[in-house]
Amino acid sequence: MHTERLYYQDCYLREFTATVLSVGGDGAVELDRSAFYPESGGQAHDLGTIEGVAVERVTEHEDCVLHFLAAPPGNRIPAKAVSPGATVQGAIDWERRFDLMQHHTGQHLLSAIAEDLYGWKTESVHMSAESATVELGAEKMGEASIERLEREVNRRIQENLPVRIATHASAKGLHLRKATERPGPLRVVSIADLDHSACGGAHVRTTGEIGSLTIGRAEKIRKNIRLEFACGMRAVHLARRKSGWLREAAAVFQSSPDHIAELAAAQRDELAALSKRLRALETQESKRAGADARRALGEAGIALCCAARRVPDAIADAERAFAQGFCERAGAEPNRTILLTVALATGAFLLCASPEAGFDAKAWLQEAGARLGAKGGGTAAMISGRMANPEGLAALVAALPFPLVELPPAAAL
Ligand SMILES: [Zn+2]
Repeated sequence: MHTERLYYQDCYLREFTATVLSVGGDGAVELDRSAFYPESGGQAHDLGTIEGVAVERVTEHEDCVLHFLAAPPGNRIPAKAVSPGATVQGAIDWERRFDLMQHHTGQHLLSAIAEDLYGWKTESVHMSAESATVELGAEKMGEASIERLEREVNRRIQENLPVRIATHASAKGLHLRKATERPGPLRVVSIADLDHSACGGAHVRTTGEIGSLTIGRAEKIRKNIRLEFACGMRAVHLARRKSGWLREAAAVFQSSPDHIAELAAAQRDELAALSKRLRALETQESKRAGADARRALGEAGIALCCAARRVPDAIADAERAFAQGFCERAGAEPNRTILLTVALATGAFLLCASPEAGFDAKAWLQEAGARLGAKGGGTAAMISGRMANPEGLAALVAALPFPLVELPPAAAL
């Protein structure tokens, strides 16, 4: 079977009459002629209606265009009016189609100018109702070159150049931008003498109808760069949305949109400085808490203080500072302290000993610790390590060679 593609001759045809050739078991309606553009060549399929029933998807299979209609639940075959032999009326969702035509012609122009200006060849294209992209063979793309590309495309749009579609017997002598392996006849879309491309897509009549083209995000993909672009009303809607985001951000900063970047950078720097200051204060506070805990034990008459402290999930800077404060000598009194901090959830531990404790933390790890499966490293005064199984931490605490004092567990921050 074969569907005559009406959009080949007239991209502006919005309504048409056709005969149903078949309705497949999957609900695919095949017509003898159709203005519906199927998903192909990077361009999204049309939407619309056939006999008033919504067309949800359009695909092509060999020479046929297949229309998938919204069907009543539980029934994949659509309306009775759409049965083999019936004459049906088709209508294209024109707003969607025209938007896709603007983007497709915009893409040809963008691809042509990107290649002419910079030698960036188009590797792939994608045009849906939501987004349009071209993947260009460029390793790097500076903001200035993108801006120039955008300006040049819009200059050509304003020149309102004719876009012509012609069918040729073969590619011979056509100066196509990209060689094609398709046998003739060949449908060639030309933008004045700027670009000649073999393409089966739907296009506007003049570049002026593209309206405008704005380039959005440039994203590195594989060895290429993918540019997002928008044309016509979509570019206008997008500009409106973006200015809305800017207005909202400006309201947060209580400033005008043109100062947001500056203000955001200043606040980011201020936040980083405050965070740093806060961390320093927390460390200081933890160290003081460690010293206070040790002093309290000293006042209780404990000469050699061997303590364990449980913390929730990791040995953070605050725990290290606490251990440091606990084991550090303060004033003239000798400080004989050992502290084993254990993180119950992860199996991590930190063992600290003051020089006067007469305890070699490293040697202990290599003997008693290793027997219990502890792994780690450090110095005689401080080692950090991990038990393969967090449950082994209790045995590690019990293995300390002095009577043990349990410190209250650290409060989770
Ligand atoms: Zn095309």
